[in-house]
Amino acid sequence: MAAEVAGCTRCALSISRRTVVPGEGSLRPPVLFIGEGPGEEEDKTGRPFVGPAGKYLDKWIAAAGLERAACFIVNCVKCRPPQNREPHPDELAACTPFLERQIGALHPRVICCLGRIASHTLLSTSASLGELRGRVHARAGIPVVVTYHPSAVLRDQALRAPVWLDLKLLKTLL
Ligand code: URA
Repeated sequence: MAAEVAGCTRCALSISRRTVVPGEGSLRPPVLFIGEGPGEEEDKTGRPFVGPAGKYLDKWIAAAGLERAACFIVNCVKCRPPQNREPHPDELAACTPFLERQIGALHPRVICCLGRIASHTLLSTSASLGELRGRVHARAGIPVVVTYHPSAVLRDQALRAPVWLDLKLLKTLL
């Protein structure tokens, strides 16, 4: 599937991207983390969450008692949106079939949505993160927890406490 994604031209992000970022990790992951879309570092390296947000996510993963390499990390869109803007609805629609196939193939024990875009995409809702977090959702029979995006928490330290609660919920589910 990574080879298929690498050749994808389903949306305009394929024109501006440097490297496709299909996702990486264990093929039998306890947790599938879903972000929004690759940033600059990810676009350079082809690996998800390796820039500042990724370094922070690594700390969350360790705090949840997990190893990054044992999990799987993906994004809703596999190509970098220019200037790190939010992915457009048509870009999300073009890329979501890849995400759905990844969920089906990996069958993680728990899915953790990082931020609004991942939560809305996965749960087909427009509810606020405040409304969505703190409880367990389901997608394709898999429990889903929702938390803030690491970049948002880097910008607003007040979000650290709720993220900690979300990680505790994740641990409890595991
Ligand atoms: N932000 C994301 O949502 N995904 C990445 O891979 C990096 C930053």
